[in-house]
Amino acid sequence: MTAQLIDGKAIAQKVREEVAAEVAKRTAAGKSQPTLATVLVGDRPDSVAYVTSKGKACQELGMGSVSKHVPGDISQADLETLIKELNADKTVNGILVQLPLPAHLNEERILQLINIEKDVDGFSPINIGRLAQKGREPLFVPCTPYGCIYLLEQVGVKIEGANAVVLGRSNIVGMPAALLLISRNATVTVCHSRTRDLPGVCRQADILIAAIGKTEMVRGDWVKPGAAIIDVGINSVPDATKKSGHRLVGDVNFNEAKEVAGWITPVPGGVGPMTIAMLMRSTLRAAQIQD
Ligand code: NAP
Repeated sequence: MTAQLIDGKAIAQKVREEVAAEVAKRTAAGKSQPTLATVLVGDRPDSVAYVTSKGKACQELGMGSVSKHVPGDISQADLETLIKELNADKTVNGILVQLPLPAHLNEERILQLINIEKDVDGFSPINIGRLAQKGREPLFVPCTPYGCIYLLEQVGVKIEGANAVVLGRSNIVGMPAALLLISRNATVTVCHSRTRDLPGVCRQADILIAAIGKTEMVRGDWVKPGAAIIDVGINSVPDATKKSGHRLVGDVNFNEAKEVAGWITPVPGGVGPMTIAMLMRSTLRAAQIQD
């Protein structure tokens, strides 16, 4: 069997076009331009790259962006003051604090400070708490897991009643992905570094979301025939044939898994492009909530 490829790049492009059309419509109607503020602490190259792409996406979709770049040794009090200023700024609809923060800062307290109506990353304890509770609706959900679920829904994978296995339990990907699957009535198993018989657990999965950050760890014989596989992993491996000297691969051995699965996301071009697309969608939603 050869799996159907889930084209995250194309689906993300469609989301972006829909958001851009909605932004144009609201600004033409005299409403405010949805605006995202990014907060970058320090100069981690990966964080700089992510924040730059988020600002660029805002521009491309006709949205506003405010970039706050502060030194890596900023004090907790000064960072809290900045978040409070952004909360009070009526021209800012969404606030995204690029994680991880330097170790001396209390991330939980910073995320807790973000006004939930501006919490477009969905990491504030109130939004996550609502996601975890039956019958409570979060205003926003974390963008990468939101993108994973959106991909499944777009290609028509039935989530309700499915056995879903999530590899990884991080606050950013694994745990919110599991909560989103539960909210859509899947039966969910969350695996982590202490899970016994990972291959055996994965073989039960109608839907497998891999978010562990381990190069091609999920092998073809871990996959249930016909399963839908969402590979969140981004791992860099040496490749002398590339100009950069490396290439990106996922947490799933794509060549093996695609022979068994029903659907599969590639890396790159699967989940990756969805994260920013969903962030743009959430920023538009923030502006709509605040109208
Ligand atoms: P993380 O915070 O490092 O969490 C990794 C999770 O995997 C943890 O729960 C850990 O278990 C589990 N794990 C690690 N080794 C394992 C093993 N051998 N067997 C079973 N479980 C294992 O990582 P993350 O932030 O969730 O990111 C995961 C991957 O997704 C990374 O490759 C990252 O680059 C990628 N990512 C991609 C996007 C995107 O936009 N596409 C966004 C975010 C992250 P414990 O809890 O027991 O330690």
